[in-house]
Amino acid sequence: MTEVCGICAIHADAAGHGALECHRGHRWIVRHHPLPSPLAGWTFLCSTRHVQGAADLDDGEAAALGPALRAVSRAVRDLTGCDRVYAIAFGQGAPHLHVHLIPRFDGEEGTRAWNVADWYRAVERGERPAADPGEVARFVDAMRERLRRETID
Ligand SMILES: [Zn+2]
Repeated sequence: MTEVCGICAIHADAAGHGALECHRGHRWIVRHHPLPSPLAGWTFLCSTRHVQGAADLDDGEAAALGPALRAVSRAVRDLTGCDRVYAIAFGQGAPHLHVHLIPRFDGEEGTRAWNVADWYRAVERGERPAADPGEVARFVDAMRERLRRETID
């Protein structure tokens, strides 16, 4: 039996997870973290093609990654007002390239560098409140509007 990739399943689920999708291009899909989300604005840049990580990108995907990463990171920064945007790609939970783009506010020590992993797990365990779904929805709307004006392949 073939194991279904969680990311491919999300990309195919337009009715459910589609509510959090911000952009769908030829090579890249941009979507918000599923609810409950650790932070509003926690965004994924995912390859449309099922590849484990950057090492498996073809030449076209590799060339398109930089501009896409820049455009989406700038959008996260502008829309959340955060001080920086972390970019992390494990490819472990699902073997499909999805770069976590995480808004980082300098005043919030709980999300500083690797602290953000503790924050993430605390939300996952219900020990810390998740981001407000209304705030996430407003971010998704704004991100869709913003990315309509960007060239993300
Ligand atoms: Zn996949």
